[in-house]
Amino acid sequence: MNLEQLDKQYVLQTYARDYTNFVKGESSTLFDEVGKDYIDFASGIAVNSIGHNNPTLVNALCEQTKKMIHISNLQVIEPQAKLAEQICKLSDYDGAIFFANSGAEANEGAIKIARKYGETKFDKKRYKVLTLEHSFHGRTITTVKATGQESFHTPNFSPYPDGFAYVDNIESIYSNIDDETVAVLIELVQGEGGVQPFEREAVQKLAAFLKEQGILLIVDEVQTGIYRTGEMLASNLYEIEPDIVTMAKGLGGGVPIGAVMTKHKDILTAGDHGSTFGGNYLSTTAGLAVLEVLSGLYDSGKLHETLIYFETKLQEIAKKYSNLFEKEVGLGLMRGLRAKDADTLGAVVKNSMSEGLIVLKAGRNTVRFLPSLTITKAEIDEGFERFEKAISSI
Ligand SMILES: *Cc1c(COP(=O)(O)O)cnc(C)c1O
Repeated sequence: MNLEQLDKQYVLQTYARDYTNFVKGESSTLFDEVGKDYIDFASGIAVNSIGHNNPTLVNALCEQTKKMIHISNLQVIEPQAKLAEQICKLSDYDGAIFFANSGAEANEGAIKIARKYGETKFDKKRYKVLTLEHSFHGRTITTVKATGQESFHTPNFSPYPDGFAYVDNIESIYSNIDDETVAVLIELVQGEGGVQPFEREAVQKLAAFLKEQGILLIVDEVQTGIYRTGEMLASNLYEIEPDIVTMAKGLGGGVPIGAVMTKHKDILTAGDHGSTFGGNYLSTTAGLAVLEVLSGLYDSGKLHETLIYFETKLQEIAKKYSNLFEKEVGLGLMRGLRAKDADTLGAVVKNSMSEGLIVLKAGRNTVRFLPSLTITKAEIDEGFERFEKAISSI
């Protein structure tokens, strides 16, 4: 059997998969089995935040795996404690962290904190979490219900847990809060929903209002976190201090990890929550190496340069090909081009792959760019050259 047949026979077919067989990567360039190279503008959906084969990450993992990969959370874990400290310091947040293994799990943790907060801090229990339409919060039964897209709530998987309500935009949150509402859960830039950033002033106003009401603001930074928008957290960029922040994608550089951070350190107590794998030696060692690389890149000003360089190139493309793209959207290195329609989007992604460039889709009609934060200028130049070749025939 060839690889495609093997996959189709033995792997559950839950993805519309591409069958290019990548065998190695270096920085933001990937190589397939016949040696063809591809520029990686997707970084494994914002996961390979420091590119492929980064020596700091690889060396840290090699050294750690020779000593120990895992012991349980019944023991103290040195890199876990240090990673928690680093995340709090780099995001200037006075809080504490629980480690999980994915974005959905981080959001589950956030919802549990909110539910217990609602049980203990109000006379009458509050449990309802408001989320936004076009949001994305994960694939577990609870986080799929938290996701404000009707298409995700198919009857196939019902019944879903209670306690979620959706509103169409930030302004309509105010009138939908009632005496059962305990939290509002939002992304600051909706990723899967179409690379859509919210207005800074609207978010700041909402944060101030919720604080005054004693209602929790949970920010899902699974995609926006870990310097994706140019700051450690998008919350830093928006200058807000949420009650709870979740992170995952870029934190482990490809090693699975999720994190939920909160300033309400006293809500969860021993026995309330747990994870067998969460925050083990492997994943937290990876997290420390990733933050070492990225905080260095940030402090040197190089991250900011890359971000501006990428944005400028993308704006040129948007202007030059206004027949295909309505506008350029996004923040930092979380960018998109709003295509005229879904067919154009499909053709752009497919042609790019043939030209040796990996880009993503988001929503119905957005071409999504999530390059690694360590991408070089040469790779950006080469990537956009290939992109132009790919779209010129459409
Ligand atoms: C990807 C994503 C998730 C889900 O993360 P998983 O690791 O796939 O569980 C949740 N929220 C946002 C905003 C995401 O982008």
